[in-house]
Order: sequence, then structure tokens, then C-alpha cells
Amino acid sequence: QDTQGAIPATLIPGDGIGPEITRAVVAILEALGAPFTWDVQQGGLAGIEAHGDPLPGVTLDSIRRTRLALKGPLTTPVGGGFRSVNVRLREEFGLYANLRPAKSMVPGGRYEDIDLVIVRENIEGLYVAFEHYIPIEGDPHAVAISSGVNTRAGSRRILEYAFDYAVKHGRKKVTVVHKANVLKALTGIFLETAKEVAPRYAGRVEWDDRIVDACAMQLVLDPWRFDVIVTTNLFGDILSDQAAGLIGGLGMAPGANIGADAAIFEAVHGSAPDIAGKGIANPLAMLLAAGLMLEHVGRQPLAARLRVAVDRALNGDGIRTRDLGGSASTMDFAEAVIRRLPEA
Ligand code: NAD
Repeated sequence: QDTQGAIPATLIPGDGIGPEITRAVVAILEALGAPFTWDVQQGGLAGIEAHGDPLPGVTLDSIRRTRLALKGPLTTPVGGGFRSVNVRLREEFGLYANLRPAKSMVPGGRYEDIDLVIVRENIEGLYVAFEHYIPIEGDPHAVAISSGVNTRAGSRRILEYAFDYAVKHGRKKVTVVHKANVLKALTGIFLETAKEVAPRYAGRVEWDDRIVDACAMQLVLDPWRFDVIVTTNLFGDILSDQAAGLIGGLGMAPGANIGADAAIFEAVHGSAPDIAGKGIANPLAMLLAAGLMLEHVGRQPLAARLRVAVDRALNGDGIRTRDLGGSASTMDFAEAVIRRLPEA
């Protein structure tokens, strides 16, 4: 990729507050001089309206072409036989790594100065959902059975991703989280593979391992001890929301889904139908996701300028949306960030 040239990317505004926060984020990225040229496509309810599918073929084709997407929250319709769009995207593009940074942005929360990253395996584990019931004596749901699948190759891939991420971002330590004391095969393979991968990073990144329940407790008691956490699918799902709680909730939590064939960036929150159309949603999570996207394409200086402007708007000028206790509208906040963009 030409380091100065335009980078085509798919933009999916999404449902509910999606279009409002997308407008704000795109305006900020333009003011920043971000290199993306957007191919706007629909998904979720908007996808059903336009093409009869929450994940239309044209949207998939666009991501196949650009291999890069910024996605607003999508409403997955209940019933109607539609599969989760997010699961379909993960499968389609082999999005094996879910990256969820949790960094304090505004003081006054329960915790300050949190700065950790959770790397969640996104495809394997109990999420393969090989499930069935065994009927006994007329009760069709007498017994429920679920099988998880973790592979050596899948474990190695996510562990290498986490260690490489740590090296690239100057992180000091990777904590491998598992439950190998009880799920000796399913999560034992993850710890076993970590012991094979970690020594290759000796001298560059420290590592340790922790049982998931102890990790959950320590995240509450002393979250500052963690730097990068890497774990299997279900544990990562739970711990990454817990980490978002530490920094004040999902409204500020960005996520990246990284795969062999594409990378998709999004806010972690949903389409917030309760406040949609009012112009009051917080665009910060999607904006931070766009920051991760800039880093992903090697534009670290732009990502850093964006973070500075966000910090100045939030903490220097005190411009905050309602969910953060302020009174700014979505576009008020966007304009405040634009005003505070540092010179290149
Ligand atoms: P939600 O995240 O949409 O909303 C939960 C609460 O947080 C609401 O009170 C909402 O107003 C508030 N909130 C969320 N984002 C906000 C923001 N940016 N600024 C201010 N307040 C915000 O969760 P939900 O209500 O459980 O889900 C609503 C819909 O979103 C569902 O259809 C669900 O399937 C979908 N969803 C999509 C994604 C995704 O596409 N990644 C993720 C989660 C939920």
C-alpha cells in the first residue's frame, strides 16, 4: 500500500444511532485528513430494506474488494430466520482476532488510568455451538450438551497475534487466560500452545498465565496489573465487557475484528433504539474504532492526533455527550474534536 495514497474502505452506517454517529465520525476523519475513501454499503435493517438481506451480497463484495471496513451497529432482527450478521462476517472473512482496548478517557469513574487490551479468539471454542439435547422420559430438554472446539493452529494464530501486537505497541506483558485446571483438553491446549509460542518473544515481552475466575477477580481488585490479555472465545467475550465496565461502559469501547482476509472495525455498543434519531448519541466508541483502523493501516501519527483531540475536547473543554454526564449533542462533540485537532 502506498503510505501516502488513498485507501479504499467499506463504510456501513448501520441502524438506529448508526447513521448519526457515522456522520460525526466521517466529519472528524475528513478534518483529520484520514486517507480513507468510503464505499458506503448497507447492513442490518437498512440492508434488509435495500436488498432483502441484513448482510447483502453487494456489501460482502465491497469488503472482499477493500478488505477493510468501518461498521456502525446493526440491529439483528429477532425471528425471520436471519443469522447474526456479526457471526456471518466472522465466518466469511475468517476474523479470528477480536481486539478490545480498554483505556480510561475521562476521570471520575470508578477506576482511573486503566490501559489494557483484551485479545479474544473469535472463531473457535464454545462459540462453534455444537449443541443438542437428549430427551429423557418425555422431557425433550432433559439434558443439554455443548461441545467446544479449540485447535492447536487456532490457538497458535491468536497467541502469535497477541504477542506480535504487544511487541508492535510497546506493551510489556501478555497474560494468557484459561481454565486448564478443569477443562484440561479444551483450554489446556491453549495454555500448552502458549508455552510453545511465548518463549519466541523472550526478552521482548514478558508473559504469565492466569485462570479465568482469578483473572476476573483481579480485574476488579487491581486492573493495573494487566497489560495485554489473550484468551479463548467465551472467556474473552465476558472479560472484554468487564474491561469496558472498568472504563465507564460500552459507550467508549471500540473493537476490531482482524482476519486473514479482512479487518472490520466497530463500536462495541448496539444500535441504541431508545435514543436513535435524537442526535444525542456518543460517537466516541466508533471514533476510537476508526482510530484502531488508522493504526491497522499504518497511520499511527494520525491515530495519535485523533486521540489528542478527543482528550482535549473531553477533558480540556469538558464537551461530553449525555451518557458521560454532559449535554453536548453528537455533532457538538464532533465539532469540538475537529476544533481541537493538533497541527500535523
Ligand atoms: P445497545 O448497546 O444498543 O444499548 C444499551 C444502552 O446503552 C441503551 O440505553 C443505549 O441508549 C445506550 N447506548 C449505546 N450506545 C450508546 C452511545 N453511542 N451513546 C449513548 N448511549 C448509548 O444495546 P441493546 O439495546 O441491547 O441492543 C440494541 C440493538 O443493537 C439490538 O438489535 C442488538 O442486536 C444490536 N446490537 C448490535 C451490535 C453490533 O452491531 N455490534 C452490538 C450489540 C447490540
